[in-house]
Amino acid sequence: MVEGEEQQSVGGGQGRESGPTRTCVGCRQRHDEADLLRCVPMPVEGGEGATIAVDWSGRAPGRGVYISPSVACVRRAIERGGFSRSLRSKLSLPRSEVFLEAIRLGLRHQMGQRLSLARRAGALISGESKVLEGLKEGRGLVLVLASNLSAGSRRKLVQNAERKGLEVISWMTGEELGGRIGREHAGVILVEGQPFASDLQRISRQLAGVQEGGVPKEGTPPQGEEEQDRAD
Ligand SMILES: [Zn+2]
Repeated sequence: MVEGEEQQSVGGGQGRESGPTRTCVGCRQRHDEADLLRCVPMPVEGGEGATIAVDWSGRAPGRGVYISPSVACVRRAIERGGFSRSLRSKLSLPRSEVFLEAIRLGLRHQMGQRLSLARRAGALISGESKVLEGLKEGRGLVLVLASNLSAGSRRKLVQNAERKGLEVISWMTGEELGGRIGREHAGVILVEGQPFASDLQRISRQLAGVQEGGVPKEGTPPQGEEEQDRAD
């Protein structure tokens, strides 16, 4: 059995349900498994040997290790040999910036998938006026805003969501959001059902952890998928 792969249940937790915990290959701390990303060795495309990839299904066979979705932990695992040591094999690893970007893309893809599923399950409302109405009626669990939503709409929606104690997440553009729910564009989506809402909250936390230069402020739009231009 590989280091970090042993399961262990702990009681308590920090207010959330706690399931099994795993050791992060970067910081060597134990965390809830659900918060970590499972990584597995993958054959190098068109080359020899193996590299590392996130197992997005969480169920890929074989040895796996777990990593906190954090810039520091990814750097440590790659630059200080955490991956190679834990998997007991020589890996050709990507540069940490490249691996971090792959994680960000993967997480955004996961977020889009959850939105598609929520839409198919009839567990979301979209469109500004319908969402505002829904919020007033006390509906919804998570508010998803397009990163390129106008400042005026954003302010109004964030205010209403905060009044109801809803989390606001904003990692995708209106075009990206629309594409996931069968529209050309979606500026705002109110997610009403589980497990979609809690999945989106977890993925949003994970995305925040892998942002270079720290976490964007609540309600401010992230700068898209290109290199971020934010001052520290
Ligand atoms: Zn860690």
